[in-house]
Amino acid sequence: MKPAAFAFARPSTLDEAVRTLADHPDAKVLAGGQSLVPLLSMRLASPAMLVDINALPDLDHVRCGADGVRVGALARHAAVLRDPEVRRVQPLVTLALAHVAHATIRNRGTTVGSVVHADAAAEMPAVLALLQGSVDVVSPRGRRTIAADDLFAGAMESTLTRDEIAVEAFFPALAGGSGVAFQELARRHGDYAMCGVAAVVALEGDRVTSARASYLSVNDVPTVVDLTEAVDGTLTDLSVARAGRAALEVLEPRADIHATAAYRAQLVEVLTGRVLRAAHDHARRMAA
Ligand code: FAD
Repeated sequence: MKPAAFAFARPSTLDEAVRTLADHPDAKVLAGGQSLVPLLSMRLASPAMLVDINALPDLDHVRCGADGVRVGALARHAAVLRDPEVRRVQPLVTLALAHVAHATIRNRGTTVGSVVHADAAAEMPAVLALLQGSVDVVSPRGRRTIAADDLFAGAMESTLTRDEIAVEAFFPALAGGSGVAFQELARRHGDYAMCGVAAVVALEGDRVTSARASYLSVNDVPTVVDLTEAVDGTLTDLSVARAGRAALEVLEPRADIHATAAYRAQLVEVLTGRVLRAAHDHARRMAA
């Protein structure tokens, strides 16, 4: 199918983009187009106008500091993925990005676009939620920061208002004594996952002081579960199995065309165990 007719604006400054969006109540921001254009083509969305932000200056940055990684709205997944400083400062971003779609899509799709698109099957919203990152947005009312905890409102629904443009996502740095891991299962490499899990494990000596995991493709929104109590200080076959069951008490795996609810629940348990062990190993390597 072809998209319904729409007006098109390609502003060259952020001010102009914000004004154009504010003046057209039925307008949508166009970034990499890797999610929006298929939605238009299938007529699942039919905005009256697209505000293409690709000509805006100074939004394609990937900045790494001691506190974390700042990704501009026009930084493509591929640019973030190949940045060695990102891998050093917050390796979970790199680990997860390697699972986002295929290389051609990563060349065009933006990490910020992925976050604000708020697809519960996408990797980067789950990572932002786990790391307790944030997104900065700009509107006629100025700039504000939305914490990841307040960002995901429902299936493909963020809490950005319709006249806000996301300009930057912030992924906090890996904390000392911590390790991270990411695993997912998809029918084919590059497909959206049937289930994916990201984890952060913190150690003091050999003791696990914190174990948290974030789940994609399970609930309507990326869902973070604190597994510290279930793990109870150490990773054993028993405690890892307990953690998988604890995750299922919070999550609501459902059936769709890709997986039954029971299969998805099994993936939650299996992947929880794998990521906890991998994040634990990573924390130990970081401490060595
Ligand atoms: P767009 O498509 O341009 O926009 C998406 C939505 O976000 C729109 O509603 C748009 O208005 C809004 N938006 C975008 N940027 C902004 C902004 N700066 N401010 C305000 N609103 C904004 N993604 C995954 O995570 N995992 C996958 O496995 C995966 N597989 C894919 C497979 C295929 C075949 C395709 C086509 C896409 C896949 N994607 C996957 C999606 C891809 O990662 C997209 O790039 C991403 O979801 C959206 O980024 P974008 O820049 O393309 O946004």
